[in-house]
Amino acid sequence: MADPKGFITTPRQEWPRRPVEERVRDWDEVYVPGALLPIVAKQADRCMDCGIPFCHQACPLGNLIPEWNGLVSREDWRAASERLHATNNFPEFTGRLCPAPCEAGCVLAINQPAVTIKNVECAIGDRAWEEGFTPPRPPERLSGRTVAVIGSGPTGLAAAQQLTRAGHTVAVYERDDRIGGLMRYGIPEFKMEKRHLERRIDQMRAEGTRFRTSTAVGRDVDAEELRCRYDAVVLATGATAWRELALPGRELTGVHQAMEYLPLANRVCEGDLDASPLSAAGKHVVIVGGGDTGADCLGTAIREGAASVTQLDIYAQPGAERDEEAEPWPTYPRLYRLSAAHEEARDVGAAPAADADARLFAASTLRLTGDADGRVRELHLTGVDAGRRPVPGAERTLPADLVLLALGFSGPDREDGLVGGLGLELEPRGTIARSAGFETNVPGVFAAGDAARGQSLIVWAIAEGRAVAAAVDQHLTGRPSHLPAPIGPYDRPMTV
Ligand SMILES: Cc1cc2nc3c(=O)[nH]c(=O)nc-3n(C[C@H](O)[C@H](O)[C@H](O)COP(=O)(O)OP(=O)(O)OC[C@H]3O[C@@H](n4cnc5c(N)ncnc54)[C@H](O)[C@@H]3O)c2cc1C
Ligand code: SF4
Repeated sequence: MADPKGFITTPRQEWPRRPVEERVRDWDEVYVPGALLPIVAKQADRCMDCGIPFCHQACPLGNLIPEWNGLVSREDWRAASERLHATNNFPEFTGRLCPAPCEAGCVLAINQPAVTIKNVECAIGDRAWEEGFTPPRPPERLSGRTVAVIGSGPTGLAAAQQLTRAGHTVAVYERDDRIGGLMRYGIPEFKMEKRHLERRIDQMRAEGTRFRTSTAVGRDVDAEELRCRYDAVVLATGATAWRELALPGRELTGVHQAMEYLPLANRVCEGDLDASPLSAAGKHVVIVGGGDTGADCLGTAIREGAASVTQLDIYAQPGAERDEEAEPWPTYPRLYRLSAAHEEARDVGAAPAADADARLFAASTLRLTGDADGRVRELHLTGVDAGRRPVPGAERTLPADLVLLALGFSGPDREDGLVGGLGLELEPRGTIARSAGFETNVPGVFAAGDAARGQSLIVWAIAEGRAVAAAVDQHLTGRPSHLPAPIGPYDRPMTV
């Protein structure tokens, strides 16, 4: 804490976003390049170096936040990078993508705006790359033990990096043609440019991790054969089984899952396609689902040139302030937030009618109707009360040429030959069952990330990857692992 009065004298200031009219014309990250470093040390100075830092408690990685805030406020970037990388393999991912439960738990947030922890993290991550503080760290000696990691999202990458650095020989199998999981083909470029991902993959390759893309285990490679070939297997296959909208009109042309739509837009950014076959250009778009996946569809549709975009949320509009009864500090509250995509929708007037906000809250879809060619044309909805019961007279019809379903995910793919091929036990809600030591019912096969936890966040995925690596290391060496295990399989975000 370089300035003990920083939290009194310095107001919170965030990394500014580029003007809306500029950023909706490209796919680059929404932030003003180079505008974070000049403000971030002063912002880090707002940290009170609390005796009991609840920011730290709210982060599943156990990030040593007050320590690196202090180091950034003194501009000791090398030490800050070391402290941050001690708990987080990929701070440049979380620094851009995390909803920052640490900031909700920041002690300063009790009666003032929180410390901009996420911005500080991002600045350290970026500066570390610029200054060369993150060279590849190959192991000094190899253990002779082999591990197959299935899935290359943040869970698989964190697990693979930890295990490779511990000396094990690790191969990552990925069914997609590129590495990255949802960070590659789900999350749009404007939230995180893929160059950040490429840089880490290069680092991991240089450390010795091997990558096998376009290889679906259970289809291209027999799952049981793979299990016999390796000393341990980590299942980090994500929760990619999407929820359906079982309503009349679902079968119409033009109704797609968000994860059918977003990957194509990402492929345009990768240079694989000139234009997305599902492009929103000139279309009236309705997104069913009020979460982050829906917001990613919103920002993408705006950039593709949609005629209008509406996002439906079944929940009532939350307040701007925390409900102290239901969601007291330091829990993560449901608030009315204006993400970059929502700000863009407001400023470009994306909503089809006189709605100021492209989001319609407390709205439930009734049915979809189409034209004679079987193409969707309208979405019929009703307003609902807190018990999701239709409110009489609150029906409404929206024009809809493209309907995107962003209703969440129920667990890993059950039909891909992996679950059946290995004889894996599942939890009643569809996720892969595992013990307190992250091991499935099949000896030597471990499960981590969204596949076992259910749909979650990147920060939890990295924590899962680190924790499963410690469990696998112990299994391989037969002694307690020196690798950190920040969470157990049953840990959950703090609630009342
Ligand atoms: C559109 C979208 C936006 C999101 N935005 C954010 C955000 O901004 N911030 C945030 O914190 N979280 C976000 N999330 C959630 C976050 O992306 C996930 O929680 C996280 O990626 C889970 O990591 P994972 O490694 O467990 O799984 P995934 O990232 O899903 O990776 C699993 C990988 O396993 C591969 N795979 C599956 N089966 C096989 C097989 N049989 N053989 C080989 N490979 C296989 C898949 O192809 C995939 O690449 C978002 C999710 C979505 C859908
Ligand atoms: S809770 Fe907030 S003020 Fe306290 S140490 Fe953490 S970041 Fe600093």
